[in-house]
Amino acid sequence: MGHPWYASTWRRAVLDMHISDEDERFLAAFDPNEYADLLVKARTKSAVVSAMGHVGLALFPSKVLPPHRGLKGRDIFGETVAACHARGIGVSAYMSVIFDAWAYRHNPDWKIVGPDGTPVAEKSRYGVCCPNSPYRAYAASFARELCEGYQFEGIRFDMTFWPHVCFCAHCRARFAREVGGEIPARVDWSDPRWRSFQQKREEWLAEFAGLLTSTALAAKPALSVEHQASTYPLNWKFGVGARLVPHNTFLQGDFYGDALQGSIARKLFSHMSPNLPAAFETCIAMQLQNYTALKPTELLRAKAHAALADCTAFVYIDSVDPEGTLNPRVYERMGEVFAETSAYEPFLGGTRVEDAAIYFSLDSKFDPADNGKPVDDPGLSNRMPHMDAVSAAARTLLEHHVPFGIVTRRNLAELSRWRLLVVPGALVMDEEEAQALREYVRVGGALFASGNGCLAGHGFPLEDVLGVSWRGVTKERFTYMRPAEKGRALFGDFTTLHPLGLYGAQVVAETAEGAEVLATITLPYTDPDDPLHFASTHNNPPGIRTDHPALVVNRYGAGKAMWAAGPIETTDASLDVLYNLFALLAGPFTLDAEAPKAVEITVFRQADRARYLLSLVNFQKELPNIPVEGIAVRLRTGGRRVTRVAHLPSETKIAFTFEGGIASFVAPRLETFAMIAVDCG
Ligand SMILES: [Zn+2]
Repeated sequence: MGHPWYASTWRRAVLDMHISDEDERFLAAFDPNEYADLLVKARTKSAVVSAMGHVGLALFPSKVLPPHRGLKGRDIFGETVAACHARGIGVSAYMSVIFDAWAYRHNPDWKIVGPDGTPVAEKSRYGVCCPNSPYRAYAASFARELCEGYQFEGIRFDMTFWPHVCFCAHCRARFAREVGGEIPARVDWSDPRWRSFQQKREEWLAEFAGLLTSTALAAKPALSVEHQASTYPLNWKFGVGARLVPHNTFLQGDFYGDALQGSIARKLFSHMSPNLPAAFETCIAMQLQNYTALKPTELLRAKAHAALADCTAFVYIDSVDPEGTLNPRVYERMGEVFAETSAYEPFLGGTRVEDAAIYFSLDSKFDPADNGKPVDDPGLSNRMPHMDAVSAAARTLLEHHVPFGIVTRRNLAELSRWRLLVVPGALVMDEEEAQALREYVRVGGALFASGNGCLAGHGFPLEDVLGVSWRGVTKERFTYMRPAEKGRALFGDFTTLHPLGLYGAQVVAETAEGAEVLATITLPYTDPDDPLHFASTHNNPPGIRTDHPALVVNRYGAGKAMWAAGPIETTDASLDVLYNLFALLAGPFTLDAEAPKAVEITVFRQADRARYLLSLVNFQKELPNIPVEGIAVRLRTGGRRVTRVAHLPSETKIAFTFEGGIASFVAPRLETFAMIAVDCG
C-alpha cells in the first residue's frame, strides 16, 4: 500500500455483518480466507471489515462487548484482517456507533428517548443509544480495545448521527446546564432557543465523534478515521454539520439515489473532505433491504465510472448471509466492472476545473413550513427547500456541461477561485458567510442568489451587494416572474403575458438606485390557497402585475450580483432560464459540449503533466445506455496551446483544431465512459 493507504486505493469493499445470534448457526460458516479470495477476484484493494455491527455483538473475543454466540470463541475479525493483509488488501475496521441494539436493550439509561419520555426503539430492531449517556464511554472503550488489539490501516465509525431528537435525562440535563431551561418541544427556526438546541445537537455529536477519533488515534497515530458521511446532505434531524468534518481523515458515505444525487454527493465531498480522495459507497444489491437482488452490471458500471470521473474512490457494499456464506456473483460482477475502471487509474489526479461553485448552507437544512409543529409530529415535512434548490442548480450546470463544484462554509476563505458563485435558496446566513460573500463580489466575483436568506428580513443583510431591500413576502405561494424589457432574451418561451410560474412565494423588495430589474412579480388573480375563489379551475393564471422586482442585477465593487426574489429553481421549465442567468453573469464557460443531458463531463487540470483530463459519463435513466456518437467538445485552455488530444487509456490520437484559445474535437463513440487527455505543450 502507498502512503497514505487511501491516496491511491480507488476500489474498495464493505461487508455488512449486522447478524444477530438468535440462532447459533449464524456466522458459524464464515470463512475469512474464502472472503479474502473473493475480494481478490473482485480486484478490491481495501475492505471495511466488521468488528461489530448494529446488533452490538463483537466479532472477536472482546472484553467490552458480548461476543457473537455463533462464533463460539472464534476471532473472525482478526482472521479476516490477516487474510486481507496476506493478499495485499488494506483493512478499515468497522464499528457501528449509536446504533447498538445490545447496549440499548441492556442499559435503560442509555436509550434515546422521545419528547414524551418514551424510549424510541422499543419495537425496532435498531436499538439506538444516546451519545450524551454513559454509552459514550462504552463505545470509546470498544474503539480502544479494537485499535490496541489489532493492526489495520483505517477505522470506520458508522452511524455517527442522531437518528431521533433525544429528550433523555442526559440530554435534558446538559441542555439545562449549557443553555438553560427545558429542551423546546416544538420545531421553530425563528426561535433562538430552538436554534441553540440544534447547535448543541451538532456540537454534542461532533464532540462524541471527536472522542472516538482521538481514542483511535491515541492507539494508532497513523490510522485513517472516518465517520459515516452520507448524512451531510440530509436534513437537520441528523444533527450533522460542519463541526463533524474535522474528526475525519476523509469523507466516505453511502448513497442509493440517481446519477444526479451521486454527482452532487461527490462534489460536496471533494471540497469538504479533509483529505482526498473522498469515497462514494453504494450497495451491490438493488436495495439494502433486498440483498439477493443485485444491481445489473450496467448500473454498477455507470456508478463506478461516475465516481472515477469525480476522482473519487468507489466502494461496494455486500451483505453476508446469516450463516456466514457469501454470494460469489457479487464479486464476479464487481471484478468485471473494476477490470474496466482500473485501466484509467494511472491517469487520475489534478485539480478539478470549476467555473461555478454552488454554496450549500449546512445551517439551512430545514423547512420553515415546519415552524410550530411538535418535534415528533408525523406531519413534519422533513423537506429541505434549500437542498432542492442546490440540486436544481447542480442539474442545470451538469446538463449544460458547465464544470462546477459544491462548496460550504469551509471554503469561505477561498471563494475568489470561482468565477460564479450560486447561493440557491439559502435560508439563513451568518455574519461570517455574509462578509465572505460581500468580499467575493467586491473583488470581482459574480454572485447569483435566490430567496430571502441573504436579506435583512433574516438578520444578516447582503442588501447592499444585491441592490435590494427587504419589505416582506407575498402571501401567494404560487407566483410568477414576468420578464422586463431588459430581461426578455433570458426567459425563452416566457413573456409578459405568459410569465414564468414559481412554486413558492416571492420576497417583496425595493430596488436600490443603479440596480437593474430584469423581471418583476406577477401574482395570480386570486390567492391559490383560497379554495372557493379562483380564475381557472386547474391552475392559477397570472393576473396582477406588480412593480416589485423578481430578478435584479447589481454592480458592487468590481463584481456583480444577481438576485431572484423567489425559488426559480423549483420547476424543470425554469432550468434553461437559470442557465441563461448563469451564462449572463459568468459565461462563456471553460467547456461547451453538444451532448445529451444524460452525459456529464468533468474536467481536471493536471499542471504537472501539462494537460487537461476530461471524463465523459453516459448515465441514462434506463440502462443499458444507448451509445452517443459525435459529441462535439470545445475546451478553453486559458491561452495554453494544445499539442495533442488523445483517447485514454489507449492514447489513440483524436483530430482537433486549436483556434482563439479553444481546442475543438469530436469525442469518440460514448457507451458509458470515455477519458480524454488534452495536452498543452
Ligand atoms: Zn439523549
